[in-house]
Amino acid sequence: MSKLSDVHGPDEVREAFRVYLRDRGIKYTTPRQKVLDAVLDLHHHFDAEQVLYALKERDLKVGKATVYRTLPLLVDCGVLKEVRFDVKQTHYEHAFGEGPHDHMVCRRCGRIVEFASDEVVELRSRIGRRHNFHVISHRFQLTGLCWDCAIVCPVATMPAPERRE
Ligand SMILES: [Zn+2]
Ligand SMILES: [Zn+2]
Repeated sequence: MSKLSDVHGPDEVREAFRVYLRDRGIKYTTPRQKVLDAVLDLHHHFDAEQVLYALKERDLKVGKATVYRTLPLLVDCGVLKEVRFDVKQTHYEHAFGEGPHDHMVCRRCGRIVEFASDEVVELRSRIGRRHNFHVISHRFQLTGLCWDCAIVCPVATMPAPERRE
């Protein structure tokens, strides 16, 4: 199977998913193809409900269960990456065609800021080497307040008061 990190076009992604399913004895059914097509048209971060909505908008009838079952397959296959911005809902983003990046999430308004850091990539290899562990991917997320929210809630960004005797 071709490495998905080298894959860019939607046709290559479809082919990679087909091969992935075939290798595991899973049928590449029409509903699964529709889920993949809807996912390919979504950008940035999205959750299962948004995939359902995108399918509905195109008048494609795919069951909720199929969507919820297909998304983890797309993650395992390397088409999607799971990102977790809150405890309620798993979000996804395309895992191909872009460089690796991490996220900062504003705790007040939910704004998501993406950043890429060579230092993080270097650090993860260093930690892996120290523990004889071959690192393939990582999840690193910063939470806090975005600039706009920090202005509204200045108290939250103030350093903790010094303890008095
Ligand atoms: Zn904010
Ligand atoms: Zn992202």
